[in-house]
Amino acid sequence: MVGFDLIRGQHQAIGLLTTLLRKGQIPHALVFTGIDGIGKQTAARTFAMACNCAAPQPYPEYPAEASSSPRVNACGQCRSCRRIQADQHPDILHLRPSGDMIRIAVVRDLIQRLAVKPYEQGRRVVILADAHTMNPEAGNALLKLLEEPPQNTLLILTARQMADLLPTIASRCQQIRFAPLQREDLTALLTAEGHLTPLEAEAAAALSGGSYTRALKMAREDWLPRRQWLAGELGRLKDQTTTWHLALAENLASGKAQLPDVLTWLLSWYRDLIVFPFQPGRIVNRDLDRQIQFAAARQDPLALIDCMKAVQAALKALQDNANPRLTMETLVLQLAAA
Ligand SMILES: [Zn+2]
Repeated sequence: MVGFDLIRGQHQAIGLLTTLLRKGQIPHALVFTGIDGIGKQTAARTFAMACNCAAPQPYPEYPAEASSSPRVNACGQCRSCRRIQADQHPDILHLRPSGDMIRIAVVRDLIQRLAVKPYEQGRRVVILADAHTMNPEAGNALLKLLEEPPQNTLLILTARQMADLLPTIASRCQQIRFAPLQREDLTALLTAEGHLTPLEAEAAAALSGGSYTRALKMAREDWLPRRQWLAGELGRLKDQTTTWHLALAENLASGKAQLPDVLTWLLSWYRDLIVFPFQPGRIVNRDLDRQIQFAAARQDPLALIDCMKAVQAALKALQDNANPRLTMETLVLQLAAA
């Protein structure tokens, strides 16, 4: 497999990109939209490779045997492809936010670099990752570039959604939509890494909202074993003292960065407890089915809905910068009392 074949679950987006290549109609600016961690930057780099490949390969839609089949896929082997893959091609610029923002200095520097002739003959490609993090000054500077695009230069922005960009920028870019990854694609990607068992990969895939990087982060942060531990604690929540509840809340609040994941997972846990008696095959946490069966038998379904509401309230409170420890104390006591 080479080039676009390596990007999973984005058939529509890749179809549009290969059509642009086939027709030789590459615009000045594209914007790849979609949630984080679904392959937008990999696709941008692969597109840059395909634009400059010395030995382009047929894309599967167009069989190699057909003499008229356009060769629009990057080979991944030629000097140009290898240099782009290694981030070492002088005409392919890959800019990312520093900290949490793209500042005007970065855009000004880019404009200066583009004023100089390209080093090589192919198409110059600028990938501006997370363009939604540009502040208004940076956005306005970029607009000048879009109004007078340098010759033979393609600008690829990535963003979560068009609405996050200045309308004047969005209107000058052709949008390519990237979809959240399907569970099967994510599970396959995660098991291919070899770190997860198929059931663990399935759980991370189900909990990640379709984002590969989020699923990978969950796997790398040992979140999956911690989740197993938490499922055990939840099972005996009702038999414990208030002191024990407060200690559990403190433990959870101490991993502040992980709290949104913990709470999102708690929603899936209570949802599974509601679903299990009716459709056990449809639970998300399939690797925890025994704990779910045990807990579901001990809880009133109506109380489970109250638990979900309490978790949602905690998520909202944290988004509004509430104190994590107080939020978790309130939540654990509510869950124990439900
Ligand atoms: Zn190549």
